[in-house]
Amino acid sequence: MTALSTPLSRLVGDRTAKALAKLGVETGWDLLRHYPRRYGDPGRLTDFDDLPVGDHVTVTARTVRTSLRPTRNPRTAMLDVTVTDGHRELLLRFFGARGFLASQERRLQGGRVGLFTGTVEHFGGRRMLKNPDFHFFDDEEDKAAVIEDASAPTPIYAASAALPTWRIRGAVQTVLEPLTEDDVPDPLPAKILERDGLPSLLAALRLVHAPRTEEDWRRGRDRLRYEEAFVLQAALAVRRAEAEATAATSRPLRDGGIREEFTARLPFTLTQGQQEVVAEVSAELARPWPMQRLLQGEVGSGKTVVALLAMLQVVDAGGQAALLAPTEVLAAQHARSISAMLGPLAEAGMLGGAENGTRVTLLTGSLPTAARRTALLAAASGEAGIVIGTHALLSENVQFAELGLVVVDEQHRFGVEQRDALRAKAATAPHLLVMTATPIPRTVAMTVFGDLETSTLREIPAGRSGIRTFLAPATHPRWVERTWQLAREEIDDGGRVYVVCPRITSQDDDVESDLVDTGDDAPGDDPGPDGLPVGGSGRAGTAGTGAAGANGAGRAAAGNGAGAQRPLAAVDEVAAILREHPVLDGVRVGELHGRMSPEDKEAAMAAFSSGDVPVLVTTTVVEVGVDVPEASVMVIMDADRFGISQLHQLRGRIGRGARPGTCLAWTTAPEGTPAMTRLRAFESTTDGFELAQVDLEQRREGDILGAAQSGRGSSLRLLRVLTDTKVIEKARWDARAIVDRDPTLRDHPALARTLAEQLDHERAEFLDRT
Ligand code: ADP
Ligand code: MG
Repeated sequence: MTALSTPLSRLVGDRTAKALAKLGVETGWDLLRHYPRRYGDPGRLTDFDDLPVGDHVTVTARTVRTSLRPTRNPRTAMLDVTVTDGHRELLLRFFGARGFLASQERRLQGGRVGLFTGTVEHFGGRRMLKNPDFHFFDDEEDKAAVIEDASAPTPIYAASAALPTWRIRGAVQTVLEPLTEDDVPDPLPAKILERDGLPSLLAALRLVHAPRTEEDWRRGRDRLRYEEAFVLQAALAVRRAEAEATAATSRPLRDGGIREEFTARLPFTLTQGQQEVVAEVSAELARPWPMQRLLQGEVGSGKTVVALLAMLQVVDAGGQAALLAPTEVLAAQHARSISAMLGPLAEAGMLGGAENGTRVTLLTGSLPTAARRTALLAAASGEAGIVIGTHALLSENVQFAELGLVVVDEQHRFGVEQRDALRAKAATAPHLLVMTATPIPRTVAMTVFGDLETSTLREIPAGRSGIRTFLAPATHPRWVERTWQLAREEIDDGGRVYVVCPRITSQDDDVESDLVDTGDDAPGDDPGPDGLPVGGSGRAGTAGTGAAGANGAGRAAAGNGAGAQRPLAAVDEVAAILREHPVLDGVRVGELHGRMSPEDKEAAMAAFSSGDVPVLVTTTVVEVGVDVPEASVMVIMDADRFGISQLHQLRGRIGRGARPGTCLAWTTAPEGTPAMTRLRAFESTTDGFELAQVDLEQRREGDILGAAQSGRGSSLRLLRVLTDTKVIEKARWDARAIVDRDPTLRDHPALARTLAEQLDHERAEFLDRT
């Protein structure tokens, strides 16, 4: 067979194969896809300015002078070689047998230009590579160099100390050289290659691994990048085509149904945007294949009513609708508010219920047995037209008589697998509406949710009063005092105050599970490079400081060294402090977090909502969708510990009614840190799309894709979802055109095979994770 299916150890030797395996390269194919990270230009030396201490680097440099010195041991020696980038010098220090170093010295003399690779160390105020590996462009013994012209760009690979880049290069050439076009089937359709004048896959691999000019590797890389986008989009297009080939029950709009009656009684008029989406959804529900739509809209843009109209259309047409929410609090709230909006229309069969009405049922994991049995029965019998719940809806014993529509609220908590599990509950595929309040830039939506059509609600219904946001230095006593005074003023005026903390109790390390999403590379508790805690720390201790009154203010904060790890604000602690706070005298303070029983959570929300307990100290369980129109102040403790979309979601909980909102984000994060960049953006705008962009810029590509859709990240090497907008759009267009004409890819066997392999890979990854 070809070199691609021969084990690497037979091709490049055991030692190299083993070192390659450590880089994740196991087959000839992996090796060819291990693209150079950059290209060295033998005519241009590497700038020594950006050589971080501790990094493994490969530099192009010219030797300047050498000095071989004896050591105490007569058989060994030390060889110092100074190299230059034309401006600065770098020390290379070798230890070894005297005879060997003497011969090395001869090779390293005389201003030769080569590649040097090693780990950067600090030594007497200079930077140094100890026992570096090196390689000269004009070395006779190097096979690759003989083939090529000495002025060609040199591919530089992600390498390791055990395996320098030129050995990888040699291995790649060994695999690449004997290949013919037949060995490397091209997933890109010939027509596209021809149309755009793109090189074949084999040609592109040669261009990136063995370029003669800069133009060469750019051409090769552009083609490989486009290929990644195309394969991804083709996979999504096939998924979409499959869904469209699946039968679904058509649920057309019916005259004189619940929906009509409900629409007539709506207390407000739909915004232009809502009307458009409602019309779109309405038309898609009437089709005999499943709707697959993503509805994104700012917090408070009124997605729920759009979903409700869709659900009612389905109920009118004899089906049931399931609404899936990410938390029990939110599910309960949806059930409550939807029942309230429907009024008598949701009381079918009950005294005073409308004749043509339906029933709304809440089904969550924590319902008492009897209530659960009733709910299950209502879903299975079809008596409940609308079933609202959490993940519990996915469990096997939940059955529907006639599931026609699945609405998933706040998509970012749900993976593709869960969507599929719920969809599998209907005899014919149900229609699907996915809603998210996290705005998703267009190309990310096309990539991550590429099998869904997208609608966006950009307006916020009139009547909102807006939110002001302030970053409050948590160590500053004036801010601390002012915060609680403001809280008091709002409460006296009929408002409500949220105080959000990252932790539940001061006793343990339990953070609410949502709190992993900080967008930082390093886990929050790791000390940062300068010894400061990375994620920062406006601590419970600081709240205590404020609570202790003006003369105690600031002491705790000042008394702690910057490097000391203080605990993050915890719900129980902050609540206790606020209960004692003189400014909040006579004000009741409640608590809410994920470890409370559902009844307690309900009760806490109800007491807050009614105003009995106008201060709620809480974790991020209030993040999603909770609606208390009187809530006007939100204090976010340790705000630097939250991701930007999380902050945005949190802030969306206030300013929902007539009362303008004030958000105070407490932080001790130093300026210039990613956390602070995030917070400054958060402070300066309430536009979710702008914040989403900042968020994405701070994340690694894998996180963007990986979080939402398993496995996809692994196939992207060159494509950058944030920046390669044009490439992705073009690929999407092309892939859809191909798949529309050839939905089973019968005429595109190489593409079909690539997609099948990728799917296998994803399945394997999914199984690994379960
Ligand atoms: P989200 O998109 O965040 O889920 P909701 O659907 O919860 O937003 O809507 C927020 C609030 O706005 C609700 O109280 C809802 O009744 C109200 N609302 C929705 N649409 C309109 C509209 N067109 N005019 C006025 N208020 C509206
Ligand atoms: Mg909502």
